[in-house]
Amino acid sequence: MRADGNSKKELDSVMAIEKNAKNKAEKVTGRRGENHFRRDTKQGVCPVAKKCGGCQLQGISYEKQLEKKRMLVKQCVGDVRVLPVIGMTDPLHYRNKVHAAFGRDKKGNVISGVYESGTHRIVPVDNCMIEDVRADAIIATIRGLLKSFKIKTYDEDSGFGLLRHVMVRTAHATGEVLVVLVLASPILPAKNHFVKALRAAHPEITTIVINVNDRHTSMVLGERNILLYGKGYIEDELCGNRYRISPNSFYQVNALQTSVLYEKAIEYAQLTGTETVIDAYCGIGTIGMTAAAHAKQVIGVELNPSAVKDAIANARRNGCKNIAFYNEDAGDYMRKLAALPAGERVPVDVVFMDPPRSGSSEAFMDAVALLVPKRVVYISCDPQTLGRDLAYMRKHGYRPKECQPVDMFPYTDDIENVVLLEKTIHNYKEKINKRQTETERTGKRNESKGKSGIVRSGNRGHQKELRKVRTAPGSGRPKTSKPKSDQRNH
Ligand code: SAH
Repeated sequence: MRADGNSKKELDSVMAIEKNAKNKAEKVTGRRGENHFRRDTKQGVCPVAKKCGGCQLQGISYEKQLEKKRMLVKQCVGDVRVLPVIGMTDPLHYRNKVHAAFGRDKKGNVISGVYESGTHRIVPVDNCMIEDVRADAIIATIRGLLKSFKIKTYDEDSGFGLLRHVMVRTAHATGEVLVVLVLASPILPAKNHFVKALRAAHPEITTIVINVNDRHTSMVLGERNILLYGKGYIEDELCGNRYRISPNSFYQVNALQTSVLYEKAIEYAQLTGTETVIDAYCGIGTIGMTAAAHAKQVIGVELNPSAVKDAIANARRNGCKNIAFYNEDAGDYMRKLAALPAGERVPVDVVFMDPPRSGSSEAFMDAVALLVPKRVVYISCDPQTLGRDLAYMRKHGYRPKECQPVDMFPYTDDIENVVLLEKTIHNYKEKINKRQTETERTGKRNESKGKSGIVRSGNRGHQKELRKVRTAPGSGRPKTSKPKSDQRNH
């Protein structure tokens, strides 16, 4: 660990943050009792802080939280200029996505809240200082309705009961509200009356969906959604575009700070309107669509089919014609693109990469290096995997120039970062070309033998499409092949 001139005490506390972060699995969001929370923040400690474990920085002033996060980032990313963390003016009730687990206490009363750290015991919570207040109120109402509708909560041990979780998503700019009832089976008794009662109590709700999760799993959502009311998704506005967000698609939890993050990412990309840009791990296409206004063309790649469907609809909705989406593993896509002969493939100028917590893959980063973009803008919610991947990118000739931490998650030990990487090794192109020639040879050999290999691992039509993303003369827009099922938007 680098000292950075800080006292041992400070470093110990950063170590504790790191340890906490490691221990924290994908869990139901921490919820807090706002009524008990003192807003001077210095001493304010939520009454269920320990049991919940969601907010690790309780009782620490916000300024101090930002300092701690910056130190943690510095330690993780190595020799990179780390700017001061951009914090929130009002760091409370920022979470636009709220999960509540439902169950019963020892007396048989219905409870809702979060799982106690490391267990499946529910800690009852009514109000939380980091969650949207509308979401908390809706969850409390649902808890109250269960008895009169004779809806049983699901018991994980016995497998009996119906209601497992409730997820509420709120849109910051439009005010739309999505309620997802996660049920163990698709049948909700008296569903129309239930919807009516819930809407009467909360007219702000714009859509209600049943999500069926009949598996013995710690994942909150299952794959099947049944529409009960409204359009089945919410729409929000971000950086001048409007986005539809379905229950299963990823959307950043802090809308205000997401704008800050994206603006920085676009600034780092230094787009002039002539570039071909890749938005890898694109989710519902938010970064790509923000970049598209400043670039010649954008290609978004995303694994989750529901998110790609949203992304395609979003591009249409925003009239964004210079963007195409691929529903594929980002590493596989990049590998296939890099395996095309240099003269035939799309020249890539800038890559945005925004992988999940586990970070990117070596296959992805190897392919990025082969494509030789001038800049890579890496967005990360995990400083540890970010540090690991930056070190790998350095070996490939990409120097991390600057890191901007953005506090998307006040009171927790999570921190989002955006890093600008620039290609630095001058003879790297030669090295890459040599490697690429080898790759092409390997690929062609595999193809000629009719075996699966780099070139043939996907479908060949897909390769053709990679070749076809070209700018139509004079139009400044990409001319693409026919739409291919739900994989692309034009
Ligand atoms: N850039 C988006 C989403 C970031 S979250 C935004 O800012 O909203 C990370 C995204 O990566 C998720 O949508 C997840 O579904 C996707 N993902 C995870 N593993 C992937 C992989 N191997 N290839 C492509 N996308 C992946």
